[in-house]
Amino acid sequence: MAVSIPPVPEALLGRVVRGWRDLSTRLVQLGRDAPHGGQGLFVNPPVTRGSTVLFSSLEAMEAAGRNRYDHELIYGAMGTPVQYRLEQAVAAIEGGTHAQVVPSGLAACTLPLMAYLGAGDHCLLSDSVYGPTRRFAEKVLRRFGVEVSYFPPMADEATLRALLRPNTRLLFAESPGSHSFEVQDVDLLGRLARGVGARLVVDNTWGIGLFSPFAHGAHASVQALTKYAAGHSDAIIGAVSVADPRDWQPLRDTAIQMGQLAGPDDCWLTLRGLRTMGARQERQAASALAVALWLQGRPEVARVLHPALPSCPGHEYWLRDFSGASSLFGVVFDPAFGESDLTTMIDGLAHFGIGASWGGYESLVLPTTGGITRSSPSITHGGVACRLHIGLEAPELLVSDLARGLDGMSAARAGRGVG
Ligand SMILES: *Cc1c(COP(=O)(O)O)cnc(C)c1O
Repeated sequence: MAVSIPPVPEALLGRVVRGWRDLSTRLVQLGRDAPHGGQGLFVNPPVTRGSTVLFSSLEAMEAAGRNRYDHELIYGAMGTPVQYRLEQAVAAIEGGTHAQVVPSGLAACTLPLMAYLGAGDHCLLSDSVYGPTRRFAEKVLRRFGVEVSYFPPMADEATLRALLRPNTRLLFAESPGSHSFEVQDVDLLGRLARGVGARLVVDNTWGIGLFSPFAHGAHASVQALTKYAAGHSDAIIGAVSVADPRDWQPLRDTAIQMGQLAGPDDCWLTLRGLRTMGARQERQAASALAVALWLQGRPEVARVLHPALPSCPGHEYWLRDFSGASSLFGVVFDPAFGESDLTTMIDGLAHFGIGASWGGYESLVLPTTGGITRSSPSITHGGVACRLHIGLEAPELLVSDLARGLDGMSAARAGRGVG
């Protein structure tokens, strides 16, 4: 059965893909050397696999080691040329000056926590953070004597002020939340953090290239490059960017002290993925918007959590701060549906893979009901929920698939005698 998708309003579509269009041209050049002195240059950097770097004299080796905050080529554990190219590109996309590449997105979440916190400090995290970030705070930070607490993602200024402590040294936000999609007022968080001498770290994975946390008061921006940058579900990698030397030096020192870096092959894959990120996302974001608008018209759906739609908490901050939207969003179902109905729906889909992660070229679905531990109430209000990642498949096909899944869901409910 072919389902036709209503046309997406032009103005909204333009607003959603604008940032990706702007980014595409920059992505061609970032992290590339200019040809010099009449010498030709390969478009892509070579992959340098190595530990030992040889020098012609001890003096030359010592001179190279003096460059520790600026891409030193002295030993493979400090980084390789392709890692440094990727770092330059990511820092520029984020609007920062320096970046540290690390072996996973999770390592990018934990590195600033290790770099900027010590025993006796207080760390205040958004309730919407990625589950393993929260687990790290609970299992590791607490063990090392850091106080940990959480703030509701949509908290107003008075609520946030009441949660600050004299020893608060770090605020950690994830905007939009990758399960619950609240878009946060990062300006407010930055202002509050700076007011008490704390740092603000933002997990900006959803907003890569669309939102610069540094223009809104953040000190560090976290990227799971595994997602949109690598873009092909074939690498695990992350990065932390900063825009101030006072934030860069402790971050770089901690990365070296903890032995954090990424393998050259993954850096190369990610740099290659970045070149086409704008083009992929221009298409995927447009399809995601079309699917989200179509879902809004379905009787099974209570609320679509897409930052470009008014039904998403914090939509006003998306309008204010983001130059576009990406291709991941949430769906909350009518409370009449239960877990088994959602299972029927998901198992009935043919074109959505069931699996963790997102940001690749393929569509994915994952149930998100109660998937995240929260201190503040969940936004699903008792309904079941799922997260959709829209890939490069034809949107008409995806909508037909979802229509079949939702019909199955309604039939399952009717079969239980409650329809
Ligand atoms: C996936 C994800 C991470 C972790 O990335 P990995 O590379 O899988 O470790 C961190 N933050 C967000 C928002 C994510 O979606």
